[in-house]
Amino acid sequence: MSQSVLISGGGIVGSFLGLELAAREIPFKIIEKKPFAPSINDHIRSLTLNLSACERLDYLGVTTISSLIQRMKVFDGSGSGKLSFDCGEANIDFLAKVFSFNDLREALLRKVESSVSVGDEITSFKRIDSGIQASLSNGSILESNLLVIAEGRNSNLAQSIASENFSKDYEQVAKTFLVEIPELNRKEAIQVFHEKEIFALMPYRNGTEINQFSVVWSMPKDLALDLSLANISTHLQKFEKKLSCNIKVISELLSFPLSAHHLDTYCDHGVCIIADAAHSIHPLAGQGINLGISDAIILAEEIERAANSNKDIGQLAFLKKYELRRKALNASMIKGVDLLFNLFQQDNPYFRLGRNFGLKMVDKFSFLKKNFILHASGIQKI
Ligand SMILES: Cc1cc2nc3c(=O)[nH]c(=O)nc-3n(C[C@H](O)[C@H](O)[C@H](O)COP(=O)(O)OP(=O)(O)OC[C@H]3O[C@@H](n4cnc5c(N)ncnc54)[C@H](O)[C@@H]3O)c2cc1C
Repeated sequence: MSQSVLISGGGIVGSFLGLELAAREIPFKIIEKKPFAPSINDHIRSLTLNLSACERLDYLGVTTISSLIQRMKVFDGSGSGKLSFDCGEANIDFLAKVFSFNDLREALLRKVESSVSVGDEITSFKRIDSGIQASLSNGSILESNLLVIAEGRNSNLAQSIASENFSKDYEQVAKTFLVEIPELNRKEAIQVFHEKEIFALMPYRNGTEINQFSVVWSMPKDLALDLSLANISTHLQKFEKKLSCNIKVISELLSFPLSAHHLDTYCDHGVCIIADAAHSIHPLAGQGINLGISDAIILAEEIERAANSNKDIGQLAFLKKYELRRKALNASMIKGVDLLFNLFQQDNPYFRLGRNFGLKMVDKFSFLKKNFILHASGIQKI
């Protein structure tokens, strides 16, 4: 009998892993706790996926509306430092694509829906001779050769097999909303680092042809508490000035508290952890789901390799190969983004001067920029 995988969590990465397994003809079942119930604000949240992740979605036949990013501009809000990346500098067609979070989630779920059980959760699991036996909240028992935990941040199951070796509360909140900016290029993403705030604009196509952008604005908790639709225009003025444009807010404001973490191990006998259940990252580089998708691709490769050689897919030795191929890369991305965050939180004027100079210098060296682009697009691994 063929071996099977049980996935706990049908978010974007859990569903994506299901699709990767389906493409490899490996049976799987997804247990998703929350019924998928779209609300009026669902279209607000966006996700930027790098070129590698987009190519993989295309290969797997996942189609949904998206916007291309061909150029990225980074500004130091407290100086004249500026950096720009263009896909042409690395001979690629685009740097990334921006999706609606819910459109992408729905498109993935549609592809795997016959294997998804919604409204249940795995409350506990134990090892048995043939693999894993999981107990569900509805009282039923499921058996499989491998349990994959894709439950997102704060997963109890993940915490039952691993501890955090890195954990940070950024004391920040990301405000996400939609804006119209007629003056900006629709193929360009922009990021402004202003004192303790990071303001990112991503082109966002939502079936309309107006210049719509999705905003992810990280800010200290006290500013986030004070910010509302009534006073937002005053707080946006500094960015309008920096970018010489008018920003019109056209949606509600969503809030996400920001933290990062990394587990000390990704697997145990018969069980492994992927994506945000294993690691989370500040969204300033838009890398969270990209890392999760890479985890899922590598895990699917290792499962296929074990299955094809008639080995137990839950064997720790195989799962450790997945951990070995992903953990150091994830750690370097989490640390790199944390370093960048700290670099732009510095108030010291000498430090700021150095930072502005650094940005301008990097902007002059095309080989350095090409390397950044290839890493960010997921084409080149560190
Ligand atoms: C403001 C913001 C902006 C971001 N922007 C980007 C971006 O542009 N690009 C990018 O790459 N990343 C971005 N990220 C990160 C990205 O959103 C996450 O990395 C990604 O959503 C993680 O996906 P996941 O499937 O691992 O977890 P989740 O999206 O959290 O999904 C987990 C799923 O598991 C289910 N679940 C939870 N517990 C259980 C249980 N016990 N049993 C069964 N099911 C369970 C949940 O209901 C959920 O459906 C951003 C994050 C934030 C906060």
